[in-house]
Amino acid sequence: MTGEARFLVDATGLFGGSESRLELCTEVRLADMELSEVGLESAVVDGRLEVDLVLERTGSDRPPGEPADPRRPGSEAVLAAGTVQGRWTAPCRRCLEPTFGDLGAEVSELFEEHPTEGETWPLTEAGIDLGPMLREVALLSIPLAPLCRSECEGPAPDRFPTGPVGDEGSDIDPRWSVLDELTFDG
Ligand SMILES: [Zn+2]
Repeated sequence: MTGEARFLVDATGLFGGSESRLELCTEVRLADMELSEVGLESAVVDGRLEVDLVLERTGSDRPPGEPADPRRPGSEAVLAAGTVQGRWTAPCRRCLEPTFGDLGAEVSELFEEHPTEGETWPLTEAGIDLGPMLREVALLSIPLAPLCRSECEGPAPDRFPTGPVGDEGSDIDPRWSVLDELTFDG
């Protein structure tokens, strides 16, 4: 099952109520957290994400520096700002063994009644579905070329060496070796 990643937050309190901020500190489990669309097969976010966000009603204001859009006067918007943390799993790019890591991303995303494709997210009467945004933020923070360890030599280092060329039988002029002894702690 690869359902939509959904995490619906009831935002009615932000509209009409006296509150203009909603603090959200929770752990969510999203479906469909596999990263395949950017060619990184089977890189996956562990479905659990620690979400620490403040949702703030901003009216139709744009993020600082961007002019308001005159075509959308008075539309409601909510800014979601905070952090997302989780774990990722992916094959090592050299030896293909499973490798793991922590991910953490800063979030500052705008939800609008009339979202701009690729820039802002939809705000609906049902509330704010943080799922797709969290999914994208989390997936984008997976390293593009994960390594199980920095010195991983791959499955067959003799046939497919990955280290620096010329490591053995160094052909570096010995006179340069004095440079190796220099220190730069001045
Ligand atoms: Zn490896």
